[in-house]
Order: sequence, then C-alpha cells, then structure tokens
Amino acid sequence: METIVRLTAFLGIFASLALMEKVMPRRELSMSKLWRWFTNLSLTALNIIIVRVLFGAALVKTAVFAGESGWGVFNYLKFPYILEFLVTIVFLDFMIYIQHILSHALPIFWRLHLVHHTDLDFDVTTAARFHPLEIIISLIYKLGLIIAIGASPAAVIAFEIILNGSAQFNHSNIKLSDRLDRILRWFIITPDFHRIHHSVRQVETNSNYGFFLPYWDYLCGTYRSQPSLPHTEMVIGLKGYSDVSRLSFTSLIMLPFEKPASMYREEDKIVQEGFKGR
Ligand SMILES: [Zn+2]
Repeated sequence: METIVRLTAFLGIFASLALMEKVMPRRELSMSKLWRWFTNLSLTALNIIIVRVLFGAALVKTAVFAGESGWGVFNYLKFPYILEFLVTIVFLDFMIYIQHILSHALPIFWRLHLVHHTDLDFDVTTAARFHPLEIIISLIYKLGLIIAIGASPAAVIAFEIILNGSAQFNHSNIKLSDRLDRILRWFIITPDFHRIHHSVRQVETNSNYGFFLPYWDYLCGTYRSQPSLPHTEMVIGLKGYSDVSRLSFTSLIMLPFEKPASMYREEDKIVQEGFKGR
C-alpha cells in the first residue's frame, strides 16, 4: 500500500513538472535531453529496485516497530498526534539538511554525492540522480532517526512524499515569476533557490543545502539568494566533469571509486600539507 501511494505521488508530480518544463522552461538545456533522461531515469529505476529488494517497506515497518516497542522520544513523551506529526516532518527535514552538508564536507560521502552534481543540466530528473550507495546510506540514516524520535508510520510516509515531491519541484526547469519565487521562498525551496547549489562555482555549490524547508539555510548562514551570473546563463555541473563520455549510466556507477576530480581535492591537499607542517 505504501509503495502504491508513494509511486503514484512520484509519477503524478513527475508528469506535471515535466509538462510544465515543456510549457514554461526557465533555461535552455545545454545537451540532449534523451541521453540525460535515460541516464537519470536508469539510476532512478535501479535505486527503486535496490531499495525494494534490500529494504522493502523498512521505513514504515521501523516506525511500527518503534511504536510497538515503545522506542523513541514520541513514544515516551505523549504529545498531541498532530504536533508529533508536524515535528517529525520538520525534524527529519532538518536532519536531511545536515546530511546534505556532511555529503559535501566529508570526502568519502562527497565521492557518492558528486554523482548528483555531475548533471550538466538541471531539471526534474536531476532530483532522482543519486548513486545507489548514497540512497542506501540515506535510508539507514533515516531508519536511525525514525527509531530515535519514535516517528509514526503516517508521518514517515508523509515525509517521504513531501521530500520527494519537493526535491522534484526545486530541481525542475520551470519558470516562476520573480514575485512568486520571492513569496514561495518564505515557505519552501524554489527551483531558483536550489539551482544555485548546482552551479559550477564552488562558493555557490557550498550554499542552499535544503531540500524542502528554506529556514535551515536562512538560520545556519548557508543561504545565497542569487547566483553571480543570471539564472539563464550560470553554468550547471561540477569542475572536472564536463566530459559527457564519463557521465554515462555505467560510468556514474563507478565514479565514486575514482579519485574526485574537483572541489575537495585541492582542499584536501591543503589540509594534508597543513597537518604535515605541524
Ligand atoms: Zn549537494
């Protein structure tokens, strides 16, 4: 049942956004959509299969188990259900923000997460371009969080749908008016907000980490309101990963096992040299 609800939500949101991208695109795409979509959707399909085979409905089952066993904060402290439900969604969203920062800051996680950033365009399929190992780690992390807070199964399903739907929306290549974008940024992360995180400029990549609620970036000082170049001209991708022959589906699966070509390599060198100098 959970699978049907989540899959229906995913496909419904995907189809609506894909249609809007066609009708009101924000940017011209820089490369063949067919090739990119094949790559990104192949990763999506592989991730769905791996998660179903290895974990089944683990998130919901863990929430049920935590409830029956009396584990987690909400199973100790009794709050009104609606409050528990809302706090669960806000808390999980904050923890996904933290996970995203760690995915950039820790070289071992960056190796996995860079697959997401190697997309040379930015549209609804980018939202699902993740390496399977990153998806597995994220799922195990979420299982731990569900046990820690004693999240209810309904809140877990709602969060997964919100997180997925929101990621699809804020990666989509749809044009919203500046005014609407400004208003929406009070409540959720918009495509113009998140696109900055996919800029090749490192200072821009290291900003706007949120996935659903924008407040974590506002409060933690990681918010950047606009890119240095206009949205229609800024370059999407990652330095050192512009060769499309290295970005096929099979290459992306192997990418984390190669030495990262950009971003943290130089910084790692500086840190290592700094340690040696001590
Ligand atoms: Zn990122």
